[in-house]
Amino acid sequence: MTMSTIGELLNQFDMIASNPKAQLEKYIAGGKQAIGCFPYYVPEELVRAADMVPFGVWGAEGTINSAKKYFAPFYCTIAQMGLELALNGKLDKLSGVIMPSICDTLRPLTQNFRSAIPQLPFIFLAHPQNRRAPYGVEYTKSQYGSVKQKLEAIAGKAITDSALKDAIRVYNESRAARRKFVKLAGQHPESVSPIHRSAVLKSAYFMDKAEHTALLTELNSQLEALPKSDWKGSKILLSGILADSKNLLQILADHNMAVVADDVAQQSRAFRLDVPEADDPMTALALQFAGQDYDVLLYDPELNKRPEHVVNLTRENGAQGVVILMMQFCDPEEMEYPSLKQALDKADIPSVSIGFDQQMRDFGQARTQLQAFADVLSSKR
Ligand code: SF4
Repeated sequence: MTMSTIGELLNQFDMIASNPKAQLEKYIAGGKQAIGCFPYYVPEELVRAADMVPFGVWGAEGTINSAKKYFAPFYCTIAQMGLELALNGKLDKLSGVIMPSICDTLRPLTQNFRSAIPQLPFIFLAHPQNRRAPYGVEYTKSQYGSVKQKLEAIAGKAITDSALKDAIRVYNESRAARRKFVKLAGQHPESVSPIHRSAVLKSAYFMDKAEHTALLTELNSQLEALPKSDWKGSKILLSGILADSKNLLQILADHNMAVVADDVAQQSRAFRLDVPEADDPMTALALQFAGQDYDVLLYDPELNKRPEHVVNLTRENGAQGVVILMMQFCDPEEMEYPSLKQALDKADIPSVSIGFDQQMRDFGQARTQLQAFADVLSSKR
């Protein structure tokens, strides 16, 4: 068997990330059922344990038309695009969707979606904000129990503890491989461009996780074998909800900015914590959610530790600055921004906030901002 080169492997990930439709059709043609998983913190292991494919429904770009009837214009495109895809028939091949309601925008989305697309089996998921106390863990467990029952009804089979334990193992392996890739991509920016880095991470939402891990393990071992990088450009940390816009990422590449770490909801926030060992796999899943942290979407009893976390991540990974991709109309991120900016300023870490959404077509202003930021960073090197 001939080994693929790093470039060939990266292109494979890119093809999948760029064409989720083909990927979905492949699974359906193979006799699988697929369940759409909306952001954030869906326990995908339950879907896998029901012998179905969890399929990510976030990150698409394009124009929003039909969904506008259901939302005021100040709703983020994460919510609007999810409904737009459904209204345009793009989710027709799914056997159901799981929709969390963790922010004030997702909550109305759950209701609007249900009323707009009544034919698609709908699984509502309410995570608790007080997730760590025993009652919070119990609540998560009961919510996951209800998701499990609905998935069993769709699949027509029971989810056994042993299938769930196996799914947890597959997902923990996937998380570990993705964390390793993030490190290696940061160490070898000459081999992994910002666009390819995003494609590797995004494709995981559209692939069977075991398949994704197998391909990623091959890529990781080839990246590990590379000689030490002699990167002459800048190094940045990316923060935000989504960071998959090829246009924006190309601007980073054009200005020799390597992404060495991230605090992006669709990227590292989604795989930084494994499901812990526990005899009861449902308890294990609930404990994983209880342990989640450093996210603007999650209640922080210690009053906003995330800015400090972003400062530490930036320093630990040798980044010279932070690029914040600020999703338009994302209340949680916008409200937290002043404290993040203050912490970065205090730590003498330059940062820039780029407003964007999934309908963005004109990248001129972002290019100007990032060009100026690249100049600031090069003076810091
Ligand atoms: S967290 Fe922000 S981007 Fe995500 S759904 Fe809520 S408002 Fe939209």
